Amino acid sequence: MLITLNNRTLQLRSPMVTAHGRTTDRHIIEITAKQDGFFGYGEAAPLPSFGAETFEETQIALTEWSKNPESLPDPPVARSGAATALDYLEQSKSKTLLPPGAVAVQALIGAVEISSVERQISDAINDGYRAVKLKVAAADTASDIERIELAASLIDPQVLLRLDANGGWTKQQALTVLTCVEASRIALVEEPTSDPSDWEKIKEETGIRVGADEHLTDRHQIDRLIELGAAQTFVLKPSILGGPPATRAIASLAANNDIDIVISSFLDGPIALRTGRDLALELAPEQIHGLGTAPLFVEDLPEDVQPVNGHLHRL
Ligand SMILES: [Mg+2]
Repeated sequence: MLITLNNRTLQLRSPMVTAHGRTTDRHIIEITAKQDGFFGYGEAAPLPSFGAETFEETQIALTEWSKNPESLPDPPVARSGAATALDYLEQSKSKTLLPPGAVAVQALIGAVEISSVERQISDAINDGYRAVKLKVAAADTASDIERIELAASLIDPQVLLRLDANGGWTKQQALTVLTCVEASRIALVEEPTSDPSDWEKIKEETGIRVGADEHLTDRHQIDRLIELGAAQTFVLKPSILGGPPATRAIASLAANNDIDIVISSFLDGPIALRTGRDLALELAPEQIHGLGTAPLFVEDLPEDVQPVNGHLHRL
């Protein structure tokens, strides 16, 4: 098997501001696995603030792996990219053609200034999105309340409003914000606090469904989430969870415990967005997924990962 690695950088049009910090660009390692004339592609792009390895660690791990592809690298982002390339290589060898399809995706709003939030949400509605996700907990609670109320006033009730606090609120801040706004308009709040033992209370007090995301990177934490009944939705990022095989395993665990899944981008480049789209079509075709991130980049990503009317299409 021949593995080749190629580095590229994608620039975000405007910074993505979350409780983990500010992201302005993505450094990506594109992976090609070739064997017997067949190809598989993967992509690795760590976001260290998210708890993953650094870019240098990804690069070292993938370079080592390219010399010995039998054993997958340890760091989670490197492992995910490698596992993705191998999964698609196997699929290519088996000559399975994936049928055309489309999945709904949400628009991600990462701006903090109220005027930018307003413009981004209006654009999303005009572009036909059926769900909008707002990053919260990166500013003070008054600003969160203002932006959530603005979002709720701009979107029709049939468009889902989702929030993502990236674990940045305290339990009290989460309850303050979520009881102050019209909770019935909020379809989901991801990682409201960094401690899942708070989440049941938040769900009980506000009625808002809670999603787990950052806590899914570790099997012990997943077991604890299930034990606590802390989350009603698992937000699965194949780019950090170990690629398609690991994502399928967690999805099946979720299904067995009556937990919904949403497949999500890790501010991915085109290869990982394609992987996310394919897994969304395979595992939860009726859901609205977190894969509408291609337009956030300055560079024009390929057509098949660009949302059209709020959907990603497999042609
Ligand atoms: Mg999230």
